[in-house]
Amino acid sequence: MYYAYKYRLKPSGTHREELDRHRDICRQLYNHTLYRLNEYQENHGELPSMTTLRSELPDLKKWWDGLSDVYSKVLQTVVERLFDNLKGLSKLKENGYGVGHLKWKPPREFRSFTYSQSGFKLDKKGGQTVLSLSKLADIPIRLHRAIPDDATLKQVTVKKEPTGEWFATFGVEMDREPPAPPENPEKCVGIDVGILKYAHDTDGTAVGSLDLSDERERLEREQRKLSRKQHGSANYEKQRRRVAECHANLKRKRRDFLHKLSNYYVREYDLVAVEDLNVKGMMESPPNSRNTASAAWRTFLTLLEYKCDREGTHFVAVNPRGTTKECAACGVSTEKPLWVREHSCPACGFEADRDANAAWNILSRGLEDVGVGYSESTSSESQGDSDGLRKSLRDFRTPVETALPVDTPVSAKRVLEAGSPILKDRTASAVSE
Ligand SMILES: [Zn+2]
Repeated sequence: MYYAYKYRLKPSGTHREELDRHRDICRQLYNHTLYRLNEYQENHGELPSMTTLRSELPDLKKWWDGLSDVYSKVLQTVVERLFDNLKGLSKLKENGYGVGHLKWKPPREFRSFTYSQSGFKLDKKGGQTVLSLSKLADIPIRLHRAIPDDATLKQVTVKKEPTGEWFATFGVEMDREPPAPPENPEKCVGIDVGILKYAHDTDGTAVGSLDLSDERERLEREQRKLSRKQHGSANYEKQRRRVAECHANLKRKRRDFLHKLSNYYVREYDLVAVEDLNVKGMMESPPNSRNTASAAWRTFLTLLEYKCDREGTHFVAVNPRGTTKECAACGVSTEKPLWVREHSCPACGFEADRDANAAWNILSRGLEDVGVGYSESTSSESQGDSDGLRKSLRDFRTPVETALPVDTPVSAKRVLEAGSPILKDRTASAVSE
């Protein structure tokens, strides 16, 4: 299994200069190789092989001053990556997709380079952990969480963010197989992820998107200031950094939140059922709309899936069709406009919050898809399947978590400090945009 671990680097002024110099040499090599590839393709009607391309590197070094300053594997990765990208593009073209050409990269767009297999290691120097990069420098690194002892470091990518900060992302391989998900999961949950607003699960937990309005306001303020600066001036550059910092801050908070949320579900449950957002997105959102909330939930599901894989939790993405209309207790479908927030079944009388009902449907579809028994958390004797789930729902009769305060805003700060445990607190579980 492969994992990625990302850390902040703490380069000195000299380190920064060196990092930027290496980055720029890689960029030039990228542009040069792109030029060579286009030329070759025009003359031969096809791309050269990877071997041909790689074999040109030693010759290049003969006349290219500075190219040998960069670790050779790093250069190879630049070439390989470009080659892979082009291959991918031409495959798309073969399949009839109208795709553009790869473009020459200006400095701002070429932000990272990669040490693969060798030339890098984590080390201790003067009581400090450093990332030792061959032909470059020993750069202090903040290892805020440990890489597991049994992990093999396969590669490291160093990247400069638009804020000017440098990060190192390790590609790590672990020998151990991830634990197999339990055959009879005891703790199961269905999560109804609203494409526009919030998520709601079968345990009555409601989660909103994070309240980032303060952060957004600040970003807009800084952007307005930027628009008043003269393009290209020193002040403009300073302000551009400030804007980039705001962007990075927003992104960090959002990701942090999604990490905490996905950790919570993986830690608490044996089986997690969600809707297949690819299908749901096509059904519900207008074409080509880029909705940040839906993008965030997509990220959430991606994180959730890979963490489930890693920890041995069942992850099921079910067909979302009709999950809101269907009654979780008896299966009868009723039309339900968006503004109807409660589910009240005309056939069996089951009443629940609209989203809780949907979440129950998602869970029962998930149980069906996985084909495992549903046991009511503690007693493993009362095992059933999704029918069993329906029966136990019917026994509720009384509304299941109907009146959840889903619109009580909770500040970003509180969520981040308190972490996921507040999600357990059913009365104050709402986090709203
Ligand atoms: Zn019903």
